[in-house]
Amino acid sequence: KEGLMLIGVVLVVLIAGVWFLYSSVKKEIQLAQIKSEFISNVSHEIRTPLALISMYIETLEMGRVKTVEKVQEYYKIIGTETHRLTSMVDKILSFSKIESGKRIYKSEICNLNLVTEQILETYHFHLNNKNFHLQFSPEQPLPNILGDKEAIADAIINLIDNGIKYSRDIKKIDISTGIEKRKVFIEVKDYGRGIAKKDQKLVFDKFFRVTNQNLANEVKGTGLGLSIVQEIVKAHKGKITLTSKPEAGSTFRLYFPIIHKPKKTNQ
Ligand code: ADP
Repeated sequence: KEGLMLIGVVLVVLIAGVWFLYSSVKKEIQLAQIKSEFISNVSHEIRTPLALISMYIETLEMGRVKTVEKVQEYYKIIGTETHRLTSMVDKILSFSKIESGKRIYKSEICNLNLVTEQILETYHFHLNNKNFHLQFSPEQPLPNILGDKEAIADAIINLIDNGIKYSRDIKKIDISTGIEKRKVFIEVKDYGRGIAKKDQKLVFDKFFRVTNQNLANEVKGTGLGLSIVQEIVKAHKGKITLTSKPEAGSTFRLYFPIIHKPKKTNQ
């Protein structure tokens, strides 16, 4: 009887060991796959704008562009593509800073309305003539929060960039601010391709992307944007919510705690 029990125990330990080995190998393989996908995504994202930039510069250099309007148009494309490259490199840098724990957050008094207005100025410049509409409805007045303006702006920019990237026919994004339960929020709502229920939690994981291999013109990306947003929000003791419906659109909300006013004393 004891011998049987011993065999049983040995068997259980053996199975557990094999299972452990199997899952660690599986994890390693998955990681290697994620890594290689990430490198191929990034290379593609770098190559496309670079190819466009060099093509337009070459055409301009050869003096083939005859009208002033066309020259201006080409310069604008070069500007937009350079902006795309810069923002991707910025994204990777900010991810690596967060990962290594080197991102230091300032503690400034900031107002989400002002931060958003500044961001939108840049967008209006870059989206000029692109037929994309960014609508901002601010809650007035909006209480201040304590945080790092640049980091918060990074988070909002990531959401707007995604809204544009994953848009469908309705080229519109509604941005609004508001107050809810001692927190202020900023909402970015798009009418794009949406996110299936099963993927809604996963999209905040680093490197995670929802891809549809059947689409020839599938949108490229690094899978880092939303993980950066999540880290920034966490560092500010805030929270992030997502409501989305496939082919109808997505709404992201970032909540931040309102600065507590010191209690008045009677003296
Ligand atoms: P990336 O956009 O570079 O892939 P993100 O971390 O920003 O990386 O997003 C992760 C995934 O979440 C994207 O690949 C996309 O599938 C999905 N996603 C993010 N934002 C949106 C959005 N506004 N609409 C639809 N899908 C989105």
